[in-house]
Amino acid sequence: MKTISGIEELRAEIAECRREGRTIGFVPTMGALHVGHAALMQAAGGRGDVVVVSIFVNPTQFGPGEDFEKYPRNLERDLELCREAGVRLVFVPRGIDMYPSASTTVIHVPELGEGLCGPHRPGHFDGVATIVTKLFHIVTPDVALFGEKDYQQLKVIERLVRELNLPVQVVGCPTVREEDGLAVSSRNAYLSRDERRQASCLYRALAEAAEAMAAGETDSAALIARMTGRVLQAGPAKIDYIAIVDPRTLRAVNPVRGPVRICLAVRIGGCRLIDNVAASPGGPVRREV
Ligand code: AMP
Repeated sequence: MKTISGIEELRAEIAECRREGRTIGFVPTMGALHVGHAALMQAAGGRGDVVVVSIFVNPTQFGPGEDFEKYPRNLERDLELCREAGVRLVFVPRGIDMYPSASTTVIHVPELGEGLCGPHRPGHFDGVATIVTKLFHIVTPDVALFGEKDYQQLKVIERLVRELNLPVQVVGCPTVREEDGLAVSSRNAYLSRDERRQASCLYRALAEAAEAMAAGETDSAALIARMTGRVLQAGPAKIDYIAIVDPRTLRAVNPVRGPVRICLAVRIGGCRLIDNVAASPGGPVRREV
């Protein structure tokens, strides 16, 4: 495994892989790697000959007052996890190389970035779309793997790849969860013990709504009210949103007539947690834990 910071050096390594006739599977991350990232690396290994992982805490996707400074960073541990996952190249670019001074170009994906997390994190999806586009140009992957945990991000990236004609296949991978259902996340480290216990209410609320829908409830407002009750019953929390949306357009639907995505963002203590599940009226229910 090689760890590379320079863009030109990375390009040279990629060119070498190409000369060997190997395809590239790519997993972009912000580090603080965990089993969710490892699952993406595994999936990348199944789809490409060479697995490339990037580790870059992207400043442009954090808003003012968000956790850019305190975002967990531990490169040594991250590299260990990559090594265990069979990664061949780890790209750890410098901020100044990814954003040469006075950078102004932004990739903006309208509509899909505007609902759900959009209003709560202004500029976030522009930051995501811009850094992912830049990474795709540098790494030139054949396939890139993203977690369904960040469902809105996945949809934004799928659209930008299609509309910018980028020659990369985007693959979404199922959310990896803790035993109690909480989606594994680098940000879970911010939770106190009590908050961590409380946070299991998020997946419970989502799973119960998916079950209620499978059993015939199609009134989104009723389902959202039930989820809201479940979350607030568990302890003090601020709900940014709980929404039932069309899985392609991310527009709210009511009543539910076909497959949907149930999405939420909730603040518990100082930690903003997001999660989502697929659901359909009449089922089936895909239990994830
Ligand atoms: P991040 O480092 O948080 O930017 O995440 C990098 C990639 O890992 C993104 O595609 C995330 O959606 C994905 N990811 C994060 N947590 C999980 C999880 N629990 N299960 C599956 N994928 C995840």
